[in-house]
Amino acid sequence: MSKYIFCTGGVVSSVGKGVTVASIGRILKARGLKVAIQKLDPYLNVDPGTMSPYQHGEVFVTADGAETDLDLGHYERFIDEQLDASCNVTTGQVYAEVIARERRGDYLGGTIQVIPHITNEIKRRVKLVAKNTQADVVLVEVGGTVGDIEGQPFLEVLRQLRTELGRKDAFYIHVTFLPHIGATGELKTKPTQHSVRELRSIGIQPHVIIARSDHPVNEDLVEKIALFCDVDKEGVIPLVTANNIYEVPLMLEESGLGDYIVDRLKLEAKPPHLKPWRKLVKSMKEAKKTTRIAIVGKYVELHDAYMSVKEALTHAGAALSHRIEIVWVNSSDLEKGRQFDTLETVQGIVVPGGFGYRGVEGKILAAKFARERKIPYLGLCLGMQVMCIEFARNVLELEDANSTEFETSTDHPVIDLMIDQRAITDLGGTMRLGLYPCVLQPGSLAHDAYGKHQVEERHRHRWELNNKYRESLLAAGMVFSGLSPDEMLVEIAELREHPFMLGTQFHPEFSSRPDRPHPLFVAFVKSAINGVNGSVKETDYES
Ligand code: GLN
Repeated sequence: MSKYIFCTGGVVSSVGKGVTVASIGRILKARGLKVAIQKLDPYLNVDPGTMSPYQHGEVFVTADGAETDLDLGHYERFIDEQLDASCNVTTGQVYAEVIARERRGDYLGGTIQVIPHITNEIKRRVKLVAKNTQADVVLVEVGGTVGDIEGQPFLEVLRQLRTELGRKDAFYIHVTFLPHIGATGELKTKPTQHSVRELRSIGIQPHVIIARSDHPVNEDLVEKIALFCDVDKEGVIPLVTANNIYEVPLMLEESGLGDYIVDRLKLEAKPPHLKPWRKLVKSMKEAKKTTRIAIVGKYVELHDAYMSVKEALTHAGAALSHRIEIVWVNSSDLEKGRQFDTLETVQGIVVPGGFGYRGVEGKILAAKFARERKIPYLGLCLGMQVMCIEFARNVLELEDANSTEFETSTDHPVIDLMIDQRAITDLGGTMRLGLYPCVLQPGSLAHDAYGKHQVEERHRHRWELNNKYRESLLAAGMVFSGLSPDEMLVEIAELREHPFMLGTQFHPEFSSRPDRPHPLFVAFVKSAINGVNGSVKETDYES
């Protein structure tokens, strides 16, 4: 039987609830417990797959091909477990399911209502994670903050589950924020008190309050929160903003939260084993040398849009005892002839995934810059496609080479829509998604990096390299070092005459872990470092 920890948020959003929940998962896993995490998102979209990155940040793709909230990326990185489609539930999915059942006549003439029909469907989905994973502990995070209208059915479910699961198997954590009043230099607990009152009016009394703050929280404030919110003093956990998100599990462990949860939920746990994690954080903090890597994208003012890429670079840097300084370059600036001086200052260039024509010509210019100057380049999905377009235009001299995503009538569709994508009309959940195998060519950069013959990686795309151009690209110096097992689809392209220019049709960033960085990111960062600092060695956190 799984036990549940339900996490709600109060006061304001964007205080790092996802990282906090992921960190709780890590300190429980460090006690030998099997952990799973689910995110309940109260918005009406079925999934974030069709949402703009401006609205939502990155879309995180699970191994089974679900397009999910970026918090699932934090969960996977912190607990190092593969999550699946059942781990992200939205109001859109719940209503779609209930309405489909109503149309089939499953409710036999009954009136369909939020309680119990919508709440029962949410409950079914919450219990599914425990059933699928057999985890000792399932952490369930509710998106948004208490008081949001669309969040109400989810909170009602959390309330009902306390009785249904039995009080000893359900635990409630409320994450709030303590604002700092500059004029008096004080932290205020009043919004936390109001938020807990709101939660109690729904019938939920939290066991733990995690009080996020940008300033140190003193003992008096902890006592005050405990008194006003009716929580044990040990259950009030101040959490000051960390410089490095991977420090959060250590901070929570330090505050005694792990033992408190184990004790209250009567979990059979081992003493916490956080030594490798400590070593990891130490190597991140102690890294003295810095490597500058440019991410060339169109949402660069919004770093959340490239969350997993940013993290994967950090992981690779840490393993090589280097701090990665990310230099954000707006691809549209390159189109106007700007920012090339910035590219001159970096040791490596990443062109991440993307959709739509805006900024693409700038990304092509970045690929040209990397190829001509022999700067290490890593292209992710669209980043691989622009690398091929650039090579076709400037090396094969096919001037109008393009992707049909951007120019339907191009004479040289080097990147073309995949055949099984051609009849698709619905945009939601219809891309080539999730894990697919990729066979690597011995002697290539990719094969050297992975040290394996075959790998499986996560995808999210509709376009692919057009096989009609394979031969001429090969003859001109490209290597197709990763192919689908039937050899029909190019998964990895690299350049022969270049220290490291490699693009993947898949997204390696989704499977990089802080203590198990992705081999392609390590190889890329190594090459970036080698260009300046000579050879580097990878750290083993377990030893
Ligand atoms: N827009 C491109 C495609 O659909 C690339 C997608 C991506 O970068 N994820 O193929």
